[in-house]
Amino acid sequence: MKYFSLHKNAPKVSFREAVVRGLAPDRGLYYPETIQPLPEEFFQQLSELSNAEIAFQVIEQFVAGEIPKDELRQIVDEVLSFDFPLVEIEPDTYSMELFHGPTLAFKDVGARFMARCLGYFNSQKATSEKVTVLVATSGDTGGAVANGFYEVDGVEVVILYPSGKVSEIQEKQLTTLGKNIRALEVEGNFDDCQAMVKKAFLDSDFEGKVNLTSANSINVARWLPQMFYYFSAYKKLQSKGKPIVYSVPSGNFGNICAGMMAQKIGLPVHHFITATNANDVVPNYLRTGTFDTRETVPTISNAMDVAAPSNFIRIEELHDHSLDKLRSNLSGYSYSDEETRATMKYLYYKFGYIADPHGAIGYSALKAYTRDSGFDGLGIFLETAHPVKFLDVIPKEISEKIDLPKSIKEILPKKKVAQKITSYAELKQNLLR
Ligand SMILES: *Cc1c(COP(=O)(O)O)cnc(C)c1O
Repeated sequence: MKYFSLHKNAPKVSFREAVVRGLAPDRGLYYPETIQPLPEEFFQQLSELSNAEIAFQVIEQFVAGEIPKDELRQIVDEVLSFDFPLVEIEPDTYSMELFHGPTLAFKDVGARFMARCLGYFNSQKATSEKVTVLVATSGDTGGAVANGFYEVDGVEVVILYPSGKVSEIQEKQLTTLGKNIRALEVEGNFDDCQAMVKKAFLDSDFEGKVNLTSANSINVARWLPQMFYYFSAYKKLQSKGKPIVYSVPSGNFGNICAGMMAQKIGLPVHHFITATNANDVVPNYLRTGTFDTRETVPTISNAMDVAAPSNFIRIEELHDHSLDKLRSNLSGYSYSDEETRATMKYLYYKFGYIADPHGAIGYSALKAYTRDSGFDGLGIFLETAHPVKFLDVIPKEISEKIDLPKSIKEILPKKKVAQKITSYAELKQNLLR
């Protein structure tokens, strides 16, 4: 199985090349050429399979034999070494907590999987050439990537983040590791960071000097392992025999797109709901049919402050570029910061549940969809980050109740090390040094 570029103007590549390159030379995102449904028996046995076995079977066709089975099993086993609990908030409404990994972000799974794949590919070369992972973060990617790639042989990591627009804990997670991890603090917003990263990938001055790759969800090794979450929830709720909808807090749309790929290979999903903040280009598109990207709006759910979601083109491909098909599989809702705070309070006072701002938006969107459609099945919203990472924007009476996890207590006193940059030229200098 090969990957092709969705801009259709670049050669097809292997899984290894797609991971090492990140983005195709024509700036398109890579997409699998063939997609095989999982066999019937897989779903019959699902309740007895371990997390690692499920993830192995789900991801295997996409790795296409380029990592030996035993190695791949070991990789997914290491990647999934923590829990993904489903917490029933009220009848038939569940929070799928994806934040129990080392950086308390759902992105830990994708980052750890990609790091291990690159580590494996590097170990296979007689003389290993260094790979530089260049990544833009709106908050949570940075920490997960820094942690996932920390001390991986032959990999240098350069993280761009928007100055003043990530939380203190997030900033500490990506600026305090050192060694092969470098943080660049950009005067601008996330879209500026992402634009610089995209520009660097096209810059021929790096050829033969620096092997750049991306660890944003445009990278297939970051994107695809996220399919696992959806299978994991289904495994737990399958026996109830009711249809399931997933409400996904969305920014770059990698996570929800992985859910749709899970559906494509056979996972029963009744409907998807994209939950956004004021950066609502997709809910707007679903409503009006016009894809209208504007300036990024800063919000309290900053990991979703994305005006031009990169993965949307993959979602269109999954729905044959038909807006009608997309509308029948996806609904969208967006919420202001004020509404988000109100939902965090509602969840806390009504159910004793502390949600982070992203998860709260997921809950609101799930409820709105249920109300609008009359859906009568099981609703799952993805809780994408631990609330402790957003202490400064959670209503004070709730944030006081949150205990600092050990991993956070340890990094808070550490010294931030980041270099400020204001232009692409400075990034370039930094990479070529
Ligand atoms: C990255 C992130 C999102 C958005 O995920 P995408 O895959 O980019 O849509 C949502 N919530 C949190 C906490 C995140 O870190």
